[in-house]
Amino acid sequence: MTDRISHWIDGKPVPGTAGRTGDVFDPATGQVRAQVDFAGDAEVARAVAAASAALPGWRGTSLAGRTRVLFKVRELLQARKDELAKIITSEHGKVESDAAGEIARGIENVEYACGAAQMLKGGFSENASTNVDVYSMAQPLGVVGVISPFNFPAMVPLWFVPNALACGNTVVLKPSEKDPSAAVFLAEVFAEAGLPDGAFNVLHGDKVAVDGLLEHPDVKAISFVGSTPIARYVYETGTRNGKRVQALGGAKNHMVVLADADLDQAADAAVSAGFGSAGERCMAVSVVVAVDPIGDELVAKIAERMHGLRVGDGRDPASEMGPLVTRAHHERVSSYVDAGVAEGAELVVDGRNVQAAGGEGGFWLGPTLFDRVRPDMSVYTDEIFGPVLSVARSAGFDDALALIAANPYGNGTAIFTGDGRAARRFQSEVEVGMVGVNVPIPVPVGYYSFGGWKDSLFGDSHAYGPEGFHFFTRTKVVTSRWPDTSHTGINLGFPKNS
Ligand code: NAD
Repeated sequence: MTDRISHWIDGKPVPGTAGRTGDVFDPATGQVRAQVDFAGDAEVARAVAAASAALPGWRGTSLAGRTRVLFKVRELLQARKDELAKIITSEHGKVESDAAGEIARGIENVEYACGAAQMLKGGFSENASTNVDVYSMAQPLGVVGVISPFNFPAMVPLWFVPNALACGNTVVLKPSEKDPSAAVFLAEVFAEAGLPDGAFNVLHGDKVAVDGLLEHPDVKAISFVGSTPIARYVYETGTRNGKRVQALGGAKNHMVVLADADLDQAADAAVSAGFGSAGERCMAVSVVVAVDPIGDELVAKIAERMHGLRVGDGRDPASEMGPLVTRAHHERVSSYVDAGVAEGAELVVDGRNVQAAGGEGGFWLGPTLFDRVRPDMSVYTDEIFGPVLSVARSAGFDDALALIAANPYGNGTAIFTGDGRAARRFQSEVEVGMVGVNVPIPVPVGYYSFGGWKDSLFGDSHAYGPEGFHFFTRTKVVTSRWPDTSHTGINLGFPKNS
């Protein structure tokens, strides 16, 4: 018997009726641990109807009332974070300390949303014209859809759901079908915190559920995070259907190491950012750009550190890197290692036959390092999303910058150097949305906003922070006069200020 993971609609679990389900694996054993219901059109309609019905009440709840719920969510998540981390590890595979990290970064967004009263203040201009006041207000959009990827099953929903709710919207979340339990856990926490039934719904499934949200006339906006082809599809389909869409896509993040960098620090950073969460992070470093002449020394230092990494079951506190999320993903990532060898990249560390401290059927792939990777090789051109780190040699700073500019992705990047002038030039000229200076994973804090450039983001709003509030509201400007006897008579001229 395996568990069954059902939708969460109108404040309670709702078993699927479409007759379609998907397997949810324990990646450290390879066993199916649960079946998740896949929504059909009827369930999409039911979830959107629940969110629509909850909208007037939640939108009408005072700012103080909404904020109180969010403070309580924060308190409950803090209290239950270990429980949530275990759920994430059991379906995603990442080590529990890493799952705890994503929860902490998610809570950061709940904390930001608790400042809604400040964020939603409008402007007021008294006497803009004689006896005329002008003021603005930020109003919710209505029902919003959130579609999230497998790699951060708690953090990515928390990038959007708290801010969307803080602004007075109601939400239907479609989490990844690969690790759907964290989303249900979040829905339970929001309900326990006092969120009214229907204000936050979780709809499980695949393309059918996503298309249902993209086509439903009552869904006013979509926040999507996932791979670039699907992000592009979601953006094009959602906007064609008249919705506001922000769609964050994939990445190929370069870490440039200049000759004057502290090479031990750079090697530590490359290993941490390349292999944390088995490379299944959109801000993972996937390409180290070693600027001449430090390439050999840097590669040796990275390789030496990789040999000491312990790959194993994420529930074991001794493990530093867990398995990949599914067998299919494992096969895909492994095939890139084969392709890299065939295409002539130098395989410095081969993770394909790793001895992992976990189940025999687990989806294990050890840390893998390629050197002398060229831009025409598939290990360079494609987002691999696994523990495969490439080193590209570069003749100088300008070449490194040009390499990044030519790459279609523009999510994150980093430079390691002791030269402030080089770092300033890099941060100014690099065509990437999030930049680290001696920081390998520059994920902005919750009071900035997260988003890449180029094929890493479709739409003009980044996620969370001030841009999140902007995305989840529309502004109304009121021009108001309370008439007195001095204002009478008809005037067909265009209104002028007087
Ligand atoms: P994915 O694109 O396969 O899936 C993302 C979501 O889209 C899931 O909910 C999935 O069910 C749905 N989906 C999948 N195929 C679909 C289709 N054909 N039509 C409609 N919906 C579909 O991504 P993933 O494998 O879950 O996550 C990994 C990807 O997400 C990587 O590319 C990673 O870089 C990216 N990511 C980006 C960011 C960012 O902030 N830019 C953050 C995290 C992950």
